[in-house]
Amino acid sequence: MMESLAAAGVQQLPKPELRPSEVCSAEPTPTTEATASVEKTPPEVSSAATLDILRDEIACCELCHELATTRTQTVFGVGDPQARLCFLGEAPGADEDREGEPFVGRAGQLMNRILAACNLAREDVYILNVLKCRPPENRNPTLVESQNCRHFLDRQLQLIKPEFICCLGAVAAQNLLNTTESIGRLRGRLHDYQGIHVLCTYHPAYLLRNPSAKKDAWDDMKLLMREMGTPVG
Ligand code: SF4
Repeated sequence: MMESLAAAGVQQLPKPELRPSEVCSAEPTPTTEATASVEKTPPEVSSAATLDILRDEIACCELCHELATTRTQTVFGVGDPQARLCFLGEAPGADEDREGEPFVGRAGQLMNRILAACNLAREDVYILNVLKCRPPENRNPTLVESQNCRHFLDRQLQLIKPEFICCLGAVAAQNLLNTTESIGRLRGRLHDYQGIHVLCTYHPAYLLRNPSAKKDAWDDMKLLMREMGTPVG
């Protein structure tokens, strides 16, 4: 074929356009002593113009070597890209890592029931995590990992522009608000993050282990729905 093209005067074929996810290397960079001990420096903020571009950027990310080499896939977020309300968790677990969606499994089912009690479906809100990759054995994200992923979270929130964020659990709340206060002290009132109203409450996985905390979580949701102008209960 090249011979006939050359005969027709064609010197070079244009390169096919690839989506960012298609140009990711199939395998993460192999570990060497240098890559294992030296963290790469994240940019200040991602400049992705759309959520789809950001999703592809994240799918290629290897900033946290351990997570990039153990994840099944990155877990970006789901829901209405123009949602008024975002739910923020800490990081994907085993179910999320396998399915590529945040808050699935038992904790996700409880979250769906909480949403339903607020007359909401998953499609009405946006659900995302501080970290886009699963930490092995579901350990908490390290400080470096949270810092590495922060510019992705910030860009995601800039693109969605929610009016309200509900932080689920201490890790998400402390990361977003840059505080060390306990979830028990953070819950029950609104905070401000760059002009966005933030409510913190217990993580659904915690509620599964501690059913007595469900009443406080429901009080938090009622406060949030009242502030949003859609009271429940
Ligand atoms: S957790 Fe975030 S920063 Fe770390 S490798 Fe995954 S996408 Fe990149």
